[in-house]
Amino acid sequence: MTVKAPDPMKITYTTSAADMDKIHAAFDKALEKVRSECGRDYPIYINGKEVRSELPRIVDTSPINTDWVLGEFTSATVEQVDEAIESAYAARLKWEKLGWRKRVAIMHEAAKLVRRDKIEIAACMSLEVGKSRMEALGDAEEAADLIDYYAQQMEDAGGYQQKMNKLTPIEDNTDLLRPYGVFVCIAPFNFPMALGCGMASAALVAGNTLVFKPAQDTPWTGLRLYHIFREAGVPEDVLHFISGRGSVIGDALWRHPKVAGVVFTGSKEVGDRIFKGFSARWVKPCLMELGGKNACIVMDSADVDAAAEGVMKSAWGLQNQKCSACSRVYVHKDVADAFTAKLIEKTKAISIGDPTQRDVYFGPVINPNAVATYERAVAIGKQDGSILSGGKRMKEGPLAKGHYVEPTIIKAPLTSAIFSEEFFVPVLAVGEIESLEQALAEANKVEYGLTAGFFSKDAAEIEKFFDEIEVGVTYVNKRSGATTGAWPGAQPFTGWKASGSSGKGGCGPYYVMQFMREQSRCVIEE
Ligand code: NAP
Repeated sequence: MTVKAPDPMKITYTTSAADMDKIHAAFDKALEKVRSECGRDYPIYINGKEVRSELPRIVDTSPINTDWVLGEFTSATVEQVDEAIESAYAARLKWEKLGWRKRVAIMHEAAKLVRRDKIEIAACMSLEVGKSRMEALGDAEEAADLIDYYAQQMEDAGGYQQKMNKLTPIEDNTDLLRPYGVFVCIAPFNFPMALGCGMASAALVAGNTLVFKPAQDTPWTGLRLYHIFREAGVPEDVLHFISGRGSVIGDALWRHPKVAGVVFTGSKEVGDRIFKGFSARWVKPCLMELGGKNACIVMDSADVDAAAEGVMKSAWGLQNQKCSACSRVYVHKDVADAFTAKLIEKTKAISIGDPTQRDVYFGPVINPNAVATYERAVAIGKQDGSILSGGKRMKEGPLAKGHYVEPTIIKAPLTSAIFSEEFFVPVLAVGEIESLEQALAEANKVEYGLTAGFFSKDAAEIEKFFDEIEVGVTYVNKRSGATTGAWPGAQPFTGWKASGSSGKGGCGPYYVMQFMREQSRCVIEE
């Protein structure tokens, strides 16, 4: 067996065998190129055709500096959404008939193209979302791995077709999983490449046609994804790109009777609305990956430095705007002072600023609404407890024109709302516990069940944590990110309770089959 040398240009969120100088030089070049393309005007794509509307355009500005206009995007109308769905519906049998082998080949080609363009895609996301270089590169790299992983699932399953037993000698029985038809894919702003790509590639490789809508804060990255799939060979009537405002076209996307399935990643609020409304006529597949309020438990036997490092990385990576971000810590009273002191020290040491620049760890939050949510969360923290670090908006010097807020640590009683509400901004609640039982009870109190972290050296405690924590993604003693860093094929990403609808997650081995329905075929041979 030959062992492949590590790819010097490969980066994940938490590990890298990469040649960083080479990567940074490539990123600088890509950033320059992407900046030179700013300010253009973009259509939506229905049937491969460029289409525009009379609605006010979406002016996509950078959260780093709102004077930077990245592009102006068409805001689709309800009629245009209907047209895209009708076209996808007409194409559905043709795409299925193409066969899984050809779809798999197209998807592997798409993965290659993502890798070809990954540095440029990352530079674009850094500007559009406010991601640090490492976060942006991880997002692009994950997108490519997701496509390959889902295509591989189809291959490993032989297209999900198999011969079945016979009840009589004259019958021939086959079982197959087939696509549903038209899927609508609705993506959030925070991982515009990886999540859009993961959801879309699974739906497509399974044989569904697709109408894809990125968040209105991130249409630029979404459009790049569309062009990559098209370049890879996804036909014009199989994939449609709709930028627009959720408040205008959101409902039209899933209310259309010809839509057979929805795959959605975003907030619980919007997810609940879609899930409850979508199955009005009959129950349809509605794959939801929703919010989180991810806890980390630090026990008295823990390596306190590793715990503080893991929580710091998980809380402040992408400014806490990850569904997996750690937003609450339950620390044993015997190590609470030592842990908190280290956490504050590590938090104060992170570099804040323009995240497109090398060595900046912490950038802006996505938009003015996120700033307002931050201010509300800090006010709750002040009222219920005390601010240990941060707590203010940052407007000085080069930060003046961006949406910058300080990473904020709040100590509060466990009954405070900062331990239960998902704010999705850089606010971390810290509370003391006396036992593992108490910590687990507190961690499990919230409606969400996405990720959780645990720091302990006691094997019995670790087993109890795994058995009793009510989340789909768990990490123990993870210094590189206490609750974050899932990767395709390594850590499946499944939301329990209010964090997801299907009990099977992205990045995992059961993902693709959720986009298909079973058909049993029985032929009686004369
Ligand atoms: P969001 O506000 O729920 O928006 C998500 C998407 O839904 C956007 O494209 C949005 O469009 C669209 N939308 C809005 N109203 C709609 C409607 N009535 N019908 C259909 N679509 C509609 O979420 P976000 O702020 O972008 O993302 C943050 C949330 O996503 C957090 O709660 C986070 O935890 C969650 N998230 C979960 C995961 C996971 O894997 N579990 C991963 C990432 C993020 P507009 O942008 O145009 O409004």
